[in-house]
Amino acid sequence: MSKAIGYAAFDPNTPLAPYSFSRRAVGANDVQIDILYCGVCHSDLHTARNEWNNTLYPSVPGHEIIGRVSAVGSAVSRFKVGDVAGVGCLVDSCRNCPSCSEGLEQYCENGFVGTYNGPAFGGGENTLGGYSDIIVVDEKYVLRISHTDNLAAVAPLLCAGITTYSPLRQWKVGPGQKVGVVGLGGLGHMAVKIANAMGAKVVLFTTSPDKKEDALRLGASQVVVSKNKDEMAAHANSFDFILNTVAAPHDLDAFLNLLKRDATMTLVGAPASPHPSPSVFGLIFKRRRIAGSLIGGIAETQEMLDFCAEHGIVSDIEMISMQDINEAYERMLKSDVKYRFVIDMATLKAA
Ligand SMILES: [Zn+2]
Ligand SMILES: [Zn+2]
Repeated sequence: MSKAIGYAAFDPNTPLAPYSFSRRAVGANDVQIDILYCGVCHSDLHTARNEWNNTLYPSVPGHEIIGRVSAVGSAVSRFKVGDVAGVGCLVDSCRNCPSCSEGLEQYCENGFVGTYNGPAFGGGENTLGGYSDIIVVDEKYVLRISHTDNLAAVAPLLCAGITTYSPLRQWKVGPGQKVGVVGLGGLGHMAVKIANAMGAKVVLFTTSPDKKEDALRLGASQVVVSKNKDEMAAHANSFDFILNTVAAPHDLDAFLNLLKRDATMTLVGAPASPHPSPSVFGLIFKRRRIAGSLIGGIAETQEMLDFCAEHGIVSDIEMISMQDINEAYERMLKSDVKYRFVIDMATLKAA
């Protein structure tokens, strides 16, 4: 067992505060990582405040983890002490079900083990995430990082990056295609960068006209203000694929009508209450599809990290101190972040 320190939520209503706990002893297949940076995901806030009614307290959020390997077990072959490594949204899965067998651990039929708030297999204890100084993870669930600088900005790739990369790959986005991205937040800004790097012509949909300049800088070739009906109508039946990152309930038809025949809109935002039901006619007459997608498996997450390193893609971030996490949550609720907060874990020692 190793002593660890972190920041935890102790109940839904009080701010996160320092917390001392222990990590498991490094087993034969385990990698121990000294955490350098951890991104701040909206799921962290939902969990800290028990907004999904499943939080185990104390809760240490954080699943966009970048760090340096500080110990390895005797059977570990892919990592050595000193390597930069990443940990994303999941740290284990059953390894036997059809989904796990296909490398789709995020769809594990026995439930994957989340990096936080996920009871570990064989034991009921809560998993504790990346708002902490060290973490111990089976090497099978640890990612190699080939970016050499700006490591803080690599952290959000572990959730925001893979959440957008996976559907773009699944629905075969590539050169010559017209791809829509709905919403320019933590997910949307990654989607714009990645779809652009895949060779697609990216159109960003936003309700805020003031985001136009930023979207173009990030790689969109056009920005459409979705409240403007004429602007929307000009794009009817023209998209090969739309990735919808907006979590707030909204009218899906406005975007479904922009899809070509047989094209798909995939939802990756998780609304607290349902979207208004889409028009079935809009789907039938052009054989359009609505789909969903959840993060990505370990192999695909590695593929995404390598793709992003090759194309020089990182997240646009604002670095914060661990002590600023509660204020960061409040700002996140107001979408006052461009486009991801990342905690500099060196500040934890001072907390
Ligand atoms: Zn996340
Ligand atoms: Zn499984």
